[in-house]
Amino acid sequence: MLGFPGNDLPGVYGAGAVQTLMNVHGIKPGNRIVMVGAGNIGLIVSYQLLQAGVEVAAIVEGSPYIGGYLVHAAKIRRTGVPILTSHTIVKAIGAEVVTGAVICEIDGNWQPVPGTEREIAADVICLAVGLSPLADLLWQAGCHMCYVPELGGHVPWRNDNLQTSLPHIYIAGDVAGVEEASSAMVEGELAGLCAAHSLGLTSPTFADELSDARAQLEALRSGPVGEKIRSGLCQVQIQEAR
Ligand SMILES: Cc1cc2nc3c(=O)[nH]c(=O)nc-3n(C[C@H](O)[C@H](O)[C@H](O)COP(=O)(O)OP(=O)(O)OC[C@H]3O[C@@H](n4cnc5c(N)ncnc54)[C@H](O)[C@@H]3O)c2cc1C
Repeated sequence: MLGFPGNDLPGVYGAGAVQTLMNVHGIKPGNRIVMVGAGNIGLIVSYQLLQAGVEVAAIVEGSPYIGGYLVHAAKIRRTGVPILTSHTIVKAIGAEVVTGAVICEIDGNWQPVPGTEREIAADVICLAVGLSPLADLLWQAGCHMCYVPELGGHVPWRNDNLQTSLPHIYIAGDVAGVEEASSAMVEGELAGLCAAHSLGLTSPTFADELSDARAQLEALRSGPVGEKIRSGLCQVQIQEAR
């Protein structure tokens, strides 16, 4: 969530809600949207909105650079939608519902540049400014946690088997570190295999399945794109598998 005046008005959505409305319920969230965030989610959801017939007035990005892959940014740019880097949202306009957004330019310290405010008419403001692990239950259970910005915030320590500091708790997916659906699914498989194994439920193919899951994760996290995740994981890995 981002803090700005009017962020509680109907018409301010997270990107996940916009996707759910469109892809699950077949409902357009509005007619003209301001997207905040030019990471992959902001770019992809903007493109999906365009495909659904929604006008994307602008994508506003605080950093001087586009955070998402250039292939997604290029698709957006070809449609004529401006991607305004070094810009942020100042406030939502509207009495009962969103009728517009005020945006402004920001400097290298993320401070507003005076005199650059401008108003954009819109009935939807979509926030795609990053995700953080929903780790409340793990805190509550007493897992040893660690702050790792590369993984989205506080995440639990874990060993190679995705077992946390509490031997009866295994983790997988975004709660282990915000990543993507494919790695979440493979982690789920790995954690499930190891949890079952710890209870004495081992199939004859356990070793093969385990090494297959590990190899899949390694492949998904390889190359320059996986560098951030790899560096984050180094900080929370308990070296000794239990
Ligand atoms: C807008 C958006 C677009 C994305 N697009 C892509 C994409 O194109 N490709 C891709 O690979 N990844 C994408 N991702 C990332 C991907 O969705 C996640 O990495 C993936 O869903 C993680 O899976 P998960 O099972 O860990 O978490 P989730 O899919 O978030 O599932 C967690 C579930 O747990 C439930 N829950 C939470 N707390 C509790 C509780 N206390 N009790 C019971 N249930 C609870 C939640 O309601 C939720 O249903 C996108 C994410 C977003 C937000």
